[in-house]
Amino acid sequence: MEFKYEMPTKIFFGEEVVLKNKEVFATIGSKALIVTGRRSAKINGSYHDVSKALSSTGVDYLLFDEVEENPSLETIEKGSKIGKDNQVDFVIGIGGGSPMDAAKAIAVFIKNPDINMDNIFTSGKLDSIPVVAVATTSGTGSEVTQYSIVTSNKEKTKKNLGQSIFPKVAFLDSKYTYNLPYDITVNTAIDAFTHLVEGYLNTNSTPMSDIYGEKGFELFKYCFEKLVNKELDLEFRKKIMMASTMAGIQISQTGTSLPHGMGYPLTYFKDLPHGLANGVLTIEYLKSFKDKSKIEKMLKYLGLSELDQLEVIFNSLIDIKLDITLEEIIEYATKFASNKDKLKNHTEEISLEEIISIYSNSIGAK
Ligand code: NAP
Ligand code: FE
Repeated sequence: MEFKYEMPTKIFFGEEVVLKNKEVFATIGSKALIVTGRRSAKINGSYHDVSKALSSTGVDYLLFDEVEENPSLETIEKGSKIGKDNQVDFVIGIGGGSPMDAAKAIAVFIKNPDINMDNIFTSGKLDSIPVVAVATTSGTGSEVTQYSIVTSNKEKTKKNLGQSIFPKVAFLDSKYTYNLPYDITVNTAIDAFTHLVEGYLNTNSTPMSDIYGEKGFELFKYCFEKLVNKELDLEFRKKIMMASTMAGIQISQTGTSLPHGMGYPLTYFKDLPHGLANGVLTIEYLKSFKDKSKIEKMLKYLGLSELDQLEVIFNSLIDIKLDITLEEIIEYATKFASNKDKLKNHTEEISLEEIISIYSNSIGAK
């Protein structure tokens, strides 16, 4: 057996971890650019805690609060200009995956002043200034992954920035998610679940990554029941945050697979939130496997005996009617079939026709 395991992010998980560990920020830098979305960080207490931690430990900071969902390279350039002009020496991403991913990309752009949205994908490996991540959704696991998923309007798609940017430190306090609305809770939870599935059924999976997958599925046994019954209590918030971080650690080792790659056009062209874009494809993706042995193992950890039972859970959480034509599906599928990076993570050969079938059977176009 041979494998590599690397997860360099220091994780603080639990109640009030930001303020309890406020001295950590000063060990990373002396002037931070805080990167957030437009509203939620100021409402859920995360921005308050981080700014208080910085002020009380003598760390200077400024705020860039313009990150939209599925952050664009334009926004990343704008944020990095502010960071460069103000000579910040680290970046703090607070939010869901969008601000955390934007913070990582901004940290690369600040470190490399010649990099811009036109040359980033052909630049080779780049360093970044340090990143701290504070998660306010339980979904992406971005706080513990090296990935930064950005929207390229030039290429009309979402894609990985192609750099390895593990946050130095991740703070996880589920209190920031207490008021996350039901729909965002579901969408983001499904994202975390698809990470577990795609990381588990992955050519890069290792005994170390599977540990996180299997523990994550066990947590989802509890979390699915709570989600279906709409019982989003504090215990649920803690467990789903735990599951999402474990899923992040797992995909940091394996990468994702078909649903993530196939979901990007559904987000870009059909505005489907990221978790739903993957989730809507997941059951048909699972059905497409010829060897179902690892899927059966996964179902056991989830406390289920049949894939049909998982389908019932998905159907009760996801209700999507997309206006999509067969021509569009063929276009997305053909483009995806040339995405060798995602295809090599899938453990079986898959044809263009099968990819088209996964889309068609999932989103209704016949
Ligand atoms: P998001 O796009 O960061 O945020 C979605 C919405 O939730 C926004 O309207 C945001 O408002 C709101 N929100 C965030 N935290 C909240 C809270 N505590 N209470 C109330 N509302 C809150 O959603 P996400 O699903 O977490 O992130 C999706 C992005 O992550 C996608 O771009 C996806 O591709 C990426 N992703 C990255 C990785 C990775 O490894 N890097 C993995 C999977 C997905 P505000 O805008 O006001 O903050
Ligand atoms: Fe994801």
